[in-house]
Amino acid sequence: MTHSASTPLDAVIIGGGQSALAVAYFLRRTQLSFVILDAEEAPGGAWRHGWNSLRLFSPATWSSIPGWMMPPAPEGYPTRNHVIDYLNHYEQRYQFPVQRPVRVVSVERLASGLRVHAGDRYWDAKVVISATGTWSNPFIPHYPDAELFAGRQLHSAHYVEAQAFAGKKVLVVGGGNSGAQILAEVSKVAQTTWVTPTEPMFLPDDVDGRVLFERATQRLKAQQEGRVIDQPVGGLGDIVMVPPVIEARGREVLKSVRPFERFTREGVRWADGSESAVDVVIWCTGFRPALQHLEALGVINTEGRVEVEGTHSTQEPRLWLVGYGEWTGSASATLIGVTRTARSTVNEIAACLGDSSMA
Ligand code: FAD
Repeated sequence: MTHSASTPLDAVIIGGGQSALAVAYFLRRTQLSFVILDAEEAPGGAWRHGWNSLRLFSPATWSSIPGWMMPPAPEGYPTRNHVIDYLNHYEQRYQFPVQRPVRVVSVERLASGLRVHAGDRYWDAKVVISATGTWSNPFIPHYPDAELFAGRQLHSAHYVEAQAFAGKKVLVVGGGNSGAQILAEVSKVAQTTWVTPTEPMFLPDDVDGRVLFERATQRLKAQQEGRVIDQPVGGLGDIVMVPPVIEARGREVLKSVRPFERFTREGVRWADGSESAVDVVIWCTGFRPALQHLEALGVINTEGRVEVEGTHSTQEPRLWLVGYGEWTGSASATLIGVTRTARSTVNEIAACLGDSSMA
């Protein structure tokens, strides 16, 4: 027998990472009732699953969500654990109504709003904000005969540390920040080959998340004013030269080759017909939005996204999406970048539900 978790709410936020907290910060300033439903066992969102040595690519002051600055990191860029601590304290500071672990499996249309299902429980709300990120939906491209390969394969979402690969022949596939940072680490203990579809794009040593966010802000402003601006090449997906990647450059490790043709049982076959033995493939090939819980609403398009105007679904007027990357707002998949769209989302919801307290 399913049972309702409570009386109908104004809003349900699905997901409890940085994006959800930023939305909750603004919702808390309205009179609207809401709850955060998060699949994790504890605060921190995807950061709980980052590898041990993962660090932000911006300083703490440039990695804060609204209302409370991230405390300075003891040295250099904040570590993964520093971010988790921050998000944990942030949640406590604002006493958000969070229920976890709660994995939402579907969202159903009602005449009065939307019904959010999780196991045998449900929550009714006038609007839903999906903030489930991408980390739980890793992407691995298909290569012919992958099923033949007898070696180990894992995605960067499940990589923890290099020691597990000591003495092995390791392919690191993917030319973004994950690929560069994992290659830098694994190449110290294993024989590595870096496979990237095109030549990797390294940002200048003095360009980190701050500069990228400033560029994203300038681009957004120009877009809003109908101006075209030319900016130096490079954006959020390009490789930030964090210290471990600079160190790897000094060891001349940052050389990449173009993709292999197919797998073999022992390894891979290259375009020239030669073969290499491989023990492990680490896929640093990115993520796709984790939107499976929205399937029943019929709003997911062929690219695995939802058509939005800003963050507002164009097909389901009671649905907003926050924090998924450029398609839900410039730099929205970053700590500092998500504030803009969290604020605009809550402004729209408050207007839609007739709450004027944020104004
Ligand atoms: P997440 O952090 O993924 O949180 C989503 C939450 O929703 C999770 O708790 C998840 O369990 C939950 N969830 C998912 N599905 C459901 C469901 N069906 N029901 C209930 N809950 C659900 N960003 C920066 O700002 N600075 C950086 O330096 C930086 N470096 C990065 C380095 C790497 C290698 C990677 C991969 C990302 C990096 N990012 C960085 C991006 C950042 O980590 C993510 O964009 C961020 O975690 C997104 O936050 P989010 O809250 O949108 O999603």
